[in-house]
Order: sequence, then C-alpha cells, then structure tokens
Amino acid sequence: MLMALTLVAVTLVAVDYTLSRHAGESTSPALTSPALTSPALTSSDVRQRVLVISLGSALLALVIATFVSRSLTLRVRRLKLLAESFPGGTLRDSPIEDSSDELGALERALGGVAIELQKLLDRLRYESTRREAILSGMTEGVLAVDHELRVTFCNAAFLRAIDHLGSRFEGRFLLEVVRDPGLHELLRSVLTTGESQKLRFKLSAANARTFEVQATQLEMPSGLGAIAILHDITDLERLEQVRKDFVANVSHELRTPLAGIIGYADTLLDGALEDQKNKRHFVEIIRTNAVRLNSIAADLLILSELESTIETPIETDVISVRGVLEGAMATVASEARLRNVSMIGDDVDSLFVSGSRLRLEQALLNLMANAIKFNRPGGEVRVRAACNPAGQVAITIADTGVGIPSQDLPRIFERFYRVDKARSRQVGGTGLGLSIVKHVVERMNGSITVESQLGRGSTFTLTLPRASVTNL
Ligand code: ADP
Repeated sequence: MLMALTLVAVTLVAVDYTLSRHAGESTSPALTSPALTSPALTSSDVRQRVLVISLGSALLALVIATFVSRSLTLRVRRLKLLAESFPGGTLRDSPIEDSSDELGALERALGGVAIELQKLLDRLRYESTRREAILSGMTEGVLAVDHELRVTFCNAAFLRAIDHLGSRFEGRFLLEVVRDPGLHELLRSVLTTGESQKLRFKLSAANARTFEVQATQLEMPSGLGAIAILHDITDLERLEQVRKDFVANVSHELRTPLAGIIGYADTLLDGALEDQKNKRHFVEIIRTNAVRLNSIAADLLILSELESTIETPIETDVISVRGVLEGAMATVASEARLRNVSMIGDDVDSLFVSGSRLRLEQALLNLMANAIKFNRPGGEVRVRAACNPAGQVAITIADTGVGIPSQDLPRIFERFYRVDKARSRQVGGTGLGLSIVKHVVERMNGSITVESQLGRGSTFTLTLPRASVTNL
C-alpha cells in the first residue's frame, strides 16, 4: 500500500514538473535567454513525456504488484499447507514466518494451534490405544449399543463368545449380529428403564455356553446407549454341577451299604439271632457292607488329599519302576490266583520316575485290581514298562477281560462312573479307583490313556516323565 502511494506521488510530481516546465516556457519567453534555457517544449513533447512517465509508472507498478502478489501467494500457500497439516502433519516443525503483519501473526497463531492439536491427538491416540489394550485383554466380553440397539463397540472376548470370526460389525443392529432374544431383551429393558440389570442365560450362538450378563445404561456423545459385560460362567456352573453330583453320588454310595447293615442288623435283632442256620450269613453281609463303607471312605480320603486346594508339597521320591511294579504284582497275586488270572511281567526296563512311591503303587494296584476283576477265568494281565520314543516312561497294563464299550471310554475316569454297576459292586469296586489313578498320574506330570475292545480286553498306559540321572 505504502509503495503504491509512493508510486502515485512520484508519478504526480513528475507530471507536475513536466507541465510546469511547459507552462513556464510558453508564458515568458522574453525573460529567458535562449542560451541559458533548454529548447522550448512543444505540446507533443509534453504529451510524450507524460506518456513515458505514465508508462514507466505503470511498468513499475506492475513489477511491484507482481512481486507483492507472489510473496502473498507464497505466504497464503504456506498457511494453507499449515492448515492442511493439522491432524498430525509435519509443517509444524518448519520455521514460522517472522513477519509482524497480520498474515505473520495468523501463521504464528496457526502454528501454535497445530502444536496444541498435535499434543491433543497424541494424548487421544495414547488413551485410545490403552483402552483398546485393556478391553481386548479382558476375559469378559464387552458390548455397547446405541439407543436403536446398534452395536457401537465390542471387544475380542465378545466376538469369541459369539463365535464370530469375520469382520467387526460396529453400526449393525444387534439382532443381525447375535440372534439371541435374551441379550436383546436385556439391553432393550436397560434402555427403556434406565436401570442396571443382571441376568444369567445361555447364549445360543456360543455353543450354548452360559453367561452372567451385567447391563448398564451408557451416556454417549451421540445420546443414550447401553453396555453389557458378559462373564462366561460355563466352567463355574459345571464345577457347581460336579460338586452337586458328587455329594449326591457319595450319599447314594453310602446309602446302599448302610441300608444293608441296618437291614441285616434289624433282622438279627428281630429274632434271626436265634436262627442258627442263617445268622452267620447275615453277620457276613453286615461285614461286607462295612468293608465297602470303609473302602469308599478310604478312597474318598485319598481323592480329597489329591484334590486338596492347599498346595501340599509335591513328593519327589526317585522310584524304580521295576520295584514298584513288582511290589504291586505281589500284592494282587493272591487275588489273581483266586480268579484264575495269570499275571505276566513282560519287559520291565530299569527305569526311574519321580513322585510319591506310595501313591504310584496305589495307582498301579488299582489298575491291576481292575484288570483282574474285569477279567475272565483263564485270562491274562500283562505288565510292561519301557522308554517311549519321546524319552518318557510308558507303563502298560493290558488284560484279556470284558473290555469297555467305546461310548463309556471318555467317562471312566470320572468319580463313581461305572460301566456295569452291579458287577463293580459285586467285585467290591467303589467307582473311585480310576479317578484316583488319573489324579496320581497328573500330579506326577504324566498322563493316562486307555484302549479297549469289548469282549477282548483293555490296555491302560501311564506315561510319566523319566527321572533324570542327577536325581538318582
Ligand atoms: P471300580 O471301583 O468300579 O473298579 P474304577 O474307577 O476303578 O471303579 O473303574 C470304573 C469302571 O471302569 C469300572 O466300574 C469298570 O466298569 C470300568 N473298568 C475299569 N477298568 C476296567 C478293565 N480293566 N476292564 C473293563 N472295565 C474296566
């Protein structure tokens, strides 16, 4: 602006000077000596000079305008780039124009805003990453919906809970995502009443797993919504059920021998004591039932010790497998003879395992006793111990007995599970033997497997870690 005014002023002065010279020349020609003055300016000279001055001024004005306009364009472009770089751009690092005019001030102000905005963005990004990490690390499923029951957020645990493997579905209606009326109704009710609610139900989408769902109203920038937290309580429920079943089973198992004892004692008291022929038999029945009660109590005690939640120190006897097998075979030898079953000690390598010798012997006794009990007269029980290709000790007890139906195989390690209840009772079984074996083996960091063919026999294999030489 200043430059433009200067230019106009200079042009005016130049024109004025030319005109005044021309006027002077034309009004007093007598006063001036021709030797001292320049030749008289004609009108056309004046016009020419004014034209030259005007053209010069216009040219100068053009040059100045181009220069100013280019500088302005550059600065405005910088401002544009600066504004465009706001969400995380890099221009904020370049030096800000040190100009004291309005554009310079604007650029500095924008630069300051850009830095603040970047800080805010960094903070938001950090917060959002942290929230994402917390939510995806949660074992509970989290689901948020808006007032129209459209999904606004859900975490990985929720997607797992509904067996969803595909893309995320924020923005879709809940019913399109989970076709579960229970969850739908719960969230709808929270949205209409505004009150938090808790419900336990099976989610049909998640292999009928049971969830305890806590739903609460949620205030979001876009309006009201609801959030649900899903706890998978399937395992807890199963445990509860196992505990209930166990108590029911124990009562049932105790009731049978107790009823026998009470019944025959009453019979004796009611006069059978005088019955010389039967009284001994009745007392024998009472004894058998008492022995049975004793066996159940003993097995339950062992099981509770093995399952004890209070960490009992893990025993680390170094056990000779051959020694423990020979001991167990000697214990069951008389029972085997009685039932006409041959006990055959096949290859038993010199191997060592680590754990409780007493418990391992108990487990092997249970397996051998079963192999004899569920055998047939003239049958065999073969015992073998060798190092398997994985370097572990594999103890095998194979019989030629009745075998186990394939549908029962997955359940025979459960407490009180018996394929043939009557036969098990008849041979003095408690239904807890295999359960004890499984616990003992697992405590020794091993595993147990079974193969069986109905009518041909069963083979139980215990795999245990081999005790290292330094333990010996
Ligand atoms: P039990 O005291 O009845 O023997 P276990 O827990 O030891 O209880 O065994 C559970 C059930 O598994 C038995 O009742 C029997 O039906 C079956 N079983 C176990 N071992 C054998 C085997 N070697 N041959 C056939 N059936 C077996």
